[in-house]
Amino acid sequence: MLARMMLAAEGSFGALPAQAAWLDALAAPVVLVVGESMRYVNAAAVSLLRAESAGYLIGRSLRDFIHPLDAHRIFARIQRAEAGVAINPPTSVRVFDCAGAERTLAVTSSPVDCSGQTGVLATCIDMTERVAMEQHLRRTDEDFRRIMDTMQDVFYRTDEKGITRYVCPAVRNVLGYSAEEIIGLPAAAFYPDPVERNALVEAIRAQGFVRDFPGRMRRKDGVIIDISISTQALRDEQGQFAGVEGIWRDISERRAMERELLRLATRDHLTGLFSRRHVLEMLEEELQRRRDRRAQAPLSVLLLDLDHFKRVNDEFGHAAGDEVLRQFVQRVEQSRRGNDSFGRLGGEEFLLLLHGADGVAARQLAERIRAGVAAEDFRLPGDGAVRLSVSIGWTLVEAADARAGEVLERADRALYEAKRGGRNRVSP
Ligand code: GH3
Ligand code: MG
Ligand code: MG
Repeated sequence: MLARMMLAAEGSFGALPAQAAWLDALAAPVVLVVGESMRYVNAAAVSLLRAESAGYLIGRSLRDFIHPLDAHRIFARIQRAEAGVAINPPTSVRVFDCAGAERTLAVTSSPVDCSGQTGVLATCIDMTERVAMEQHLRRTDEDFRRIMDTMQDVFYRTDEKGITRYVCPAVRNVLGYSAEEIIGLPAAAFYPDPVERNALVEAIRAQGFVRDFPGRMRRKDGVIIDISISTQALRDEQGQFAGVEGIWRDISERRAMERELLRLATRDHLTGLFSRRHVLEMLEEELQRRRDRRAQAPLSVLLLDLDHFKRVNDEFGHAAGDEVLRQFVQRVEQSRRGNDSFGRLGGEEFLLLLHGADGVAARQLAERIRAGVAAEDFRLPGDGAVRLSVSIGWTLVEAADARAGEVLERADRALYEAKRGGRNRVSP
């Protein structure tokens, strides 16, 4: 533009040498073209095209430098300029410099009189870096979108008020809502329990992030799912809390499997009671609590063994025996209190930990169980029935008891006494 004004003042390009110093001082590249050949290049243009000197370029055809795909369009513009269009608006053109590297320029051009011939004076801005940056950004953006579109976990971002600003499409598979339904709503709206959500927010604010933080969310159909959250706090340029960003995944299946494994590890499969190992571990823990003086209340232990149970198996078969064991457990369940721990030690031998029960309370309960078992027939598959009784040994946990085995031994001796005394009784 400046060049054009200066040249306009001169009236023609005939006086070029006088202007060259001005144009050479210009930071923007300037090229004068007549026909297709370069008649003048300023220093910035020499440098842009990485030529040895202006002399190397002058007289060369512009075609040698313009990308073939852009050449047609550019020469049409030159012709338009020559035909008298005042200024061609900026356009993008790819050129090759003398080292063969491609550059992208935004170029404007206008007609000038050059010693009686019409030439075109062009100037440009080098857009190469910017174009590369835009391409990089576009690619990064596309990569991000592709990852988000294919991701199974849910990526999300909230602002400082907890409003969801982004959530990836996977959320539909997990929660049943489309991303659009969620964006703009408070993230808290999808947590069934505000207390749990507060714990998450507290943890993020305290350490700036959480990893595999357990939580729950409510699906569109109302079902509550288990999730695991890994999220970090976002800060604005002043370091202020600006929201959170992270992923969460549906771990309902994993949780269900863990619960099932735990059940298998801690439960007896026939009766659903605690397994031998688990109920003995519970007893060990209780002994430890007493040693640490964390528990003062009395703890009674009942060992129960069905009388002449072998006969049920012998007479009616093993399946009938199993059925009797299940019904026996149901009867005990009706008599015992909710906080007792009930486990199957094996076969037809069971252990009851009576938390807070002294000898009087424990023997009352044992007597109720014994009477309940003896009072009614057990129904058998088919139409059979059998009358059974149970013997029960009782012992009280003492401060000196170090191992569950000692307690069990005492209970076993008491049980033996009950058997020896004629069965269907509580001892001592
Ligand atoms: P006692 O009055 O002396 O206890 O006599 P009992 O027949 O109950 O004696 P014992 O403890 O020797 O026999 C227990 C029987 O329980 C042996 C076994 O056939 C049976 N049994 C053990 N586990 C199971 C089980 O899971 N299912 C069934 N149906 N029977 C079992
Ligand atoms: Mg028995
Ligand atoms: Mg037995």
